[in-house]
Amino acid sequence: MSRRILIVGGGIGGLTAALALRRAGFEPVVFEQAHALQPVGAGIQLSPNATRALIQLGYGAGLRAIASSPQALEARSWRSGRRIFSTPLGERCLEAYGAPYYHVHRADLHALLSQALGPEGLRLSARCTGFAEEGDGVRVEFEDGSSEWGDLLIGADGIRSITRTVAFGPEQPRFSGNVAFRAVIPARSVEGLPLERNTTAWWGPGKHFVHYFISGGSQLNCIAVVPSRTWSVESWSTEGTREELLAEFEGWHPLVQAVIRATGRVFKWALYDRDPLPRWSLGRVTLLGDAAHPMLPFQAQGAAQAIEDAMVLASCLSRHAEQPRVALEAYERIRKPRTSRIQEISRHNAQLFHLARQPRVLLRDTQLRFLNRHRSEKLARRMDWLFAHDPLAVAEPSTGLGA
Ligand SMILES: Cc1cc2nc3c(=O)[nH]c(=O)nc-3n(C[C@H](O)[C@H](O)[C@H](O)COP(=O)(O)OP(=O)(O)OC[C@H]3O[C@@H](n4cnc5c(N)ncnc54)[C@H](O)[C@@H]3O)c2cc1C
Repeated sequence: MSRRILIVGGGIGGLTAALALRRAGFEPVVFEQAHALQPVGAGIQLSPNATRALIQLGYGAGLRAIASSPQALEARSWRSGRRIFSTPLGERCLEAYGAPYYHVHRADLHALLSQALGPEGLRLSARCTGFAEEGDGVRVEFEDGSSEWGDLLIGADGIRSITRTVAFGPEQPRFSGNVAFRAVIPARSVEGLPLERNTTAWWGPGKHFVHYFISGGSQLNCIAVVPSRTWSVESWSTEGTREELLAEFEGWHPLVQAVIRATGRVFKWALYDRDPLPRWSLGRVTLLGDAAHPMLPFQAQGAAQAIEDAMVLASCLSRHAEQPRVALEAYERIRKPRTSRIQEISRHNAQLFHLARQPRVLLRDTQLRFLNRHRSEKLARRMDWLFAHDPLAVAEPSTGLGA
């Protein structure tokens, strides 16, 4: 096959795929519907499995320049503030996994990836409306009536993927019953509050609140997940208010309320979910990231898994350059079990974080506090399978994509 690969969607998954494919010698082009790359103004956690991949691609220094490094991941009880557990991240991640745990602003990560790709690899205002296999490749159609031909199509177009719909038929994502409020606060607005350089999650009945520093510590990112019966607004995200958020967290620990009072603009984001797909690929078309396996954000792995997908897909295509179908089969075989597992865990975590009935809350907190006090290494190591994962080593180590 020649080497022109069309990627629909310029999110973290699509951009990383393009960079990994280019590095493997292909000619990827990303088609993004937006007129400008304006990712939602919020933070994102990048666990070592994701940072390792980005470092392997050559963006370690760029990433370090935009990141904050949390010292620990801790959970606290919503009203008392009592710590439930605290797992070290910072140095421990470097020692145990050979890669850092970072917090970054999404816009900074997008900028890093899109600048690395350059304008020749990215077309904006290109809304894909469909595709058809043509000759030994795929023709992708756009809203403005134009079309493009490539050897292969990757649908990295998010949870409402048109690629997925055309390939496998329509199926609506399911509203999870939860809404995420998101806000980014200048660090100077929370100066004086006893906020540590951690990922702090406050767990309460039916809700949770997470905060962590991003942008080298100059901003605090907040995510609050609360139940909502319906999502009646057409758009997925809309503007909320600080008062709404304060009302949701009335009675919570004073520190949570102080952080909320420091927020400026607050956005609301409906959380949707899908069951794992039976398959991701059809002929010369495949899916990647949220288009393939959308997951609730309760394990903070959606973008990390899109990045892993990108690495494995580039590796498989490189390995089976003359047999794209074989490459796509290998990609799916390697990636689907892991992403399906994380989809399930993310769903399960929603229940764990939001426990409301007292006997079960007590049992959860007592067990975790015991582990934290007496088996702290065991508690930390429960993330090994996730964080130690090296997608390239798992795919095909001999492709030369590694660092
Ligand atoms: C509240 C919240 C917190 C999260 N926190 C984390 C976290 O801490 N860590 C983490 O790893 N993940 C996190 N995630 C998940 C993460 O944001 C997503 O999994 C990730 O952004 C998916 O990337 P993607 O590239 O697959 O899709 P998207 O980011 O959805 O990108 C898809 C792109 O495709 C474009 N597109 C769509 N349709 C078309 C079309 N027809 N034609 C052309 N372009 C199109 C879109 O405009 C978009 O740019 C969080 C999610 C939420 C909601």
